[in-house]
Amino acid sequence: MNEPLTPSEWQLADRLGLAPDDGTGWINDLLEAEDRDAAEAARQARIAAGFEYACVVCGCSESRACPGGCVWAAPNLCSRCAYPGRMVPA
Ligand SMILES: [Zn+2]
Ligand SMILES: [Zn+2]
Repeated sequence: MNEPLTPSEWQLADRLGLAPDDGTGWINDLLEAEDRDAAEAARQARIAAGFEYACVVCGCSESRACPGGCVWAAPNLCSRCAYPGRMVPA
């Protein structure tokens, strides 16, 4: 199935450097990237509004922990940054 793209989809594909004619998977990449952009924008808004803590060093937060997981070592500092190299609970 080959739905024609809307102008805003073309713009987004162009911005993300995706080539609309390079196979069948690109539209899913596009939609996933759009989801990530929206989720990240919402996360940043929650942090800016003070609804969500973020680590001052790495920027991880309640809804996006460090790879492998991290916990709060201090209100604005996560365990990955507070104790580099130490194993921490996920
Ligand atoms: Zn951190
Ligand atoms: Zn972290």
